[in-house]
Amino acid sequence: MPLFEHPEFDHHETVSYCHDAASGLRGIIAVHSTHLGAGLGGCRMWPYRSEDEALTDVLRLSRGMTYKAALAGLPQGGGKSVIIGDPRKDKTPELIRAMARAIERLNGAYVVAEDSGTSVADMRVMAEVTRHVGGLADAAAQAAGRTGDPSPATALGVFIGIQAAVRHQFGRDDLKGLRVAVQGLGNVGYRLCRHLHEAGAQLWVTDLYLPAVERCVNEFGATAVAMDQIALLDVDVYAPCALGAVLDDATIPAIRARVVAGAANNQLALPRHDHALRERGILYAPDYCINAGGIIDIYYEGPDYDPAAVDAHLRRIGTTLSEIFSTADAENRPTGEIADRMAEARFRPQ
Ligand code: NAD
Repeated sequence: MPLFEHPEFDHHETVSYCHDAASGLRGIIAVHSTHLGAGLGGCRMWPYRSEDEALTDVLRLSRGMTYKAALAGLPQGGGKSVIIGDPRKDKTPELIRAMARAIERLNGAYVVAEDSGTSVADMRVMAEVTRHVGGLADAAAQAAGRTGDPSPATALGVFIGIQAAVRHQFGRDDLKGLRVAVQGLGNVGYRLCRHLHEAGAQLWVTDLYLPAVERCVNEFGATAVAMDQIALLDVDVYAPCALGAVLDDATIPAIRARVVAGAANNQLALPRHDHALRERGILYAPDYCINAGGIIDIYYEGPDYDPAAVDAHLRRIGTTLSEIFSTADAENRPTGEIADRMAEARFRPQ
């Protein structure tokens, strides 16, 4: 499909196809907006079935990064890159270096980070070729216990976002006895459970991977539930921290929680589900706002890393969410729509 007519094309500034015959690289880099700064976003390696599927993904994801960075108050734009291939079979250092050369040719308009199918180790290989790699913990950072993994900051940001949502929806500041269902206990979900447990919340948990469930049961006294039940429990907060598209025509009418607030990307199956949640009186914390802790942390990574500045910035996730919730109530509009509008006001050239 021609790029300018593609349904996911949204005035992206640059879409660059990259190829390297020797390593077999076939990739696409999309820079959606650099109005606020360089377009930061992960490099995803995935066995896309077609070039169009890869293009759809990179256009959609790079646009999402612009919104996320703008709403997080970062001086950054949005970008993303994809490599067509199976990371387990096709990934070689030569291929990663070839991608890094393509990134270098964009002269800093795009800054790469790890994503599905690429790792911190791949980013180190890229950093041999290009300066435009974000979030890499240097030797001093590693000595200070930072690994470049953004999950702890993401989990703290989600916890702060849940506090803001609970304050708005239930008018209470403490989380003692709050009933929370956490779906997905990976890097973010597990850490979120720890924050919630320390704040006195009661947890219901599920995961595909049973040892992850057992760990939360043992460490936090959580109650294990079946995967297909987690969204339907009689709890206060449902926190999706696994896969996307969990809020759809089947789940929304059955959700009993009054707050949906979690780390997963793209939680709404379709944009209209934002309205459906509001109609049911469920307060939805827009995913790209509540899960921005990771990119905030990446932004600060470097020799002058200041944990207090990162913490203060993460707390602003709560302030931004409170503003979204109040505006949504004042205008009787869904929270996702308000979040989009606030982000656009920041990144669209006036
Ligand atoms: P992860 O891969 O470490 O954890 C995901 C967990 O979900 C795994 O334990 C997996 O077994 C489980 N899972 C998968 N399908 C499931 C299902 N149907 N039901 C229950 N559990 C299921 O990922 P993560 O880094 O913890 O990220 C979680 C979500 O948050 C993802 O959607 C990710 O895109 C999003 N996110 C993560 C970050 C970050 O910093 N890691 C930042 C922003 C957004």
